[in-house]
Amino acid sequence: ADAARVLDAVKVYGRGDTEVRALDGVSVDFPAGRFTAVMGPSGSGKSTLLHCAAGLDTLTSGAAFVGGTDLSTLDDRRLTLLRRDRVGFVFQAFNLLPTLTVAENITLPLDLAGRTPDRARFDRLVDTVGLRDRLHHRPGELSGGQQQRVAVARAFVGDPDVVFADEPTGNLDSRSGEEVLRLLGRTARETGRTVVMVTHDPVAAAHADEVVFLADGRLVDRMAAPTADRVL
Ligand code: ADP
Ligand code: ADP
Repeated sequence: ADAARVLDAVKVYGRGDTEVRALDGVSVDFPAGRFTAVMGPSGSGKSTLLHCAAGLDTLTSGAAFVGGTDLSTLDDRRLTLLRRDRVGFVFQAFNLLPTLTVAENITLPLDLAGRTPDRARFDRLVDTVGLRDRLHHRPGELSGGQQQRVAVARAFVGDPDVVFADEPTGNLDSRSGEEVLRLLGRTARETGRTVVMVTHDPVAAAHADEVVFLADGRLVDRMAAPTADRVL
């Protein structure tokens, strides 16, 4: 499967007096088969890094790659296809469609791609995130934690090469948080996928194979085999 990588990534929002350098020359690679956590203070550029690496937003300069593909070389149509077929994204705000059921929300990426869900795979995913008895409910009838698990299942349903997750356990109790973290780790290690997660939580980060630390839009540290007390 494909790795993800950014090289000399710079992202500037606004201009003049209101200019913000959200990323100030970040180079980092997220290897296939590895679960990487991104940590850092609020405003350090974590969400921006994820959005640009996933092709949801463009860099001001530098490059973002998925596999061998430099995202800046793709036209809108090819970028949309890459996001649809090769990248899964778990948004902080879930981005679920309120009129669709849980099952329909989860399979949405497949429907958009004109693909038929693989029944066995769908069932496994639903059991992993513990939504078996909620499949016909709508997001408004679910707790925040359940909605978050729908968002996680949706990111994985298309079997993407790379999954980016922005605070995927932020709304979960510790038990369902553990389930989601194990899913993220297992997907990376057992299927060779690339999994990248932003988190504030040292206990969540300890599930990753490596943690990279951002501060003021720069990569300031990285730590292999993290433990919660070393990350703190
Ligand atoms: P983090 O995820 O680490 O909290 P962000 O990537 O969200 O950091 O933000 C990094 C910096 O960029 C912050 O100063 C933030 O206010 C700014 N920023 C993020 N998104 C935008 C935007 N759309 N327009 C202007 N500034 C933004
Ligand atoms: P967060 O809460 O992590 O900042 P948001 O859900 O607010 O994430 O979305 C962040 C950005 O990504 C927004 O600018 C939004 O327009 C963009 N975005 C959201 N969903 C998609 C999508 N499916 N395709 C492309 N861009 C998207």
